[in-house]
Amino acid sequence: MLDADFFRRWMTATAASVDREAQRLTELDSPIGDADHGSNLQRGFTAVVNVLEKDAPDTPGAVLTLAGRQLISTVGGASGPLYGTLLRRTGKALGDAAEVSEDQFTDALRAGVDAVMALGGAAPGDKTMIDALVPAVDALADSFAAAATAAEEGAAATIPLQARKGRASYLGERSIGHQDPGATSSSLLIAALVEASGE
Ligand code: ADP
Ligand code: MG
Ligand code: MG
Repeated sequence: MLDADFFRRWMTATAASVDREAQRLTELDSPIGDADHGSNLQRGFTAVVNVLEKDAPDTPGAVLTLAGRQLISTVGGASGPLYGTLLRRTGKALGDAAEVSEDQFTDALRAGVDAVMALGGAAPGDKTMIDALVPAVDALADSFAAAATAAEEGAAATIPLQARKGRASYLGERSIGHQDPGATSSSLLIAALVEASGE
């Protein structure tokens, strides 16, 4: 079973990983974006860790809805509302239980990813964070480690794609040949589940 502490560790591990990889995320956002993805997420997840320390929500659902709200209010770029929606919707789907099963979490994260697709209009293959998140959710029934591998492969698979959503889509064919920054940060988010679980 997964409790509020697990979800707090997930957010803390994500923040640490985003800190370590911020420069790489911003570099990926340079040829096909505006070179701010690393700093956007660094600001956002730092604020998430701070608010979780201050407010100490005591259920999985409350941890994720608070984290999502914080991302929406601190990240100006496209990724803020999208990641914010992912966490908020996932948290909402977890309800107010003190502990949730891994299967419940998988279902909730699927609802979160569906909400991101509804908000941003992206489908798999459009070269966005969705290309890492959908395979991750599909593999999550196996293990956190399998989900992390699937997300990383999904991010790498965005390289040959032409972007159809977000800023990178303005480049048309020139977006081909670059890994999507949001798919890359999504793979960090999913990999942080492995750290949080100690798996
Ligand atoms: P901005 O483009 O506003 O500067 P960021 O650089 O923080 O925002 O985030 C860019 C990432 O957001 C992209 O790499 C992509 O993965 C994701 N993204 C952008 N638009 C969409 C969308 N409509 N649906 C899903 N993901 C998107
Ligand atoms: Mg950007
Ligand atoms: Mg920007």
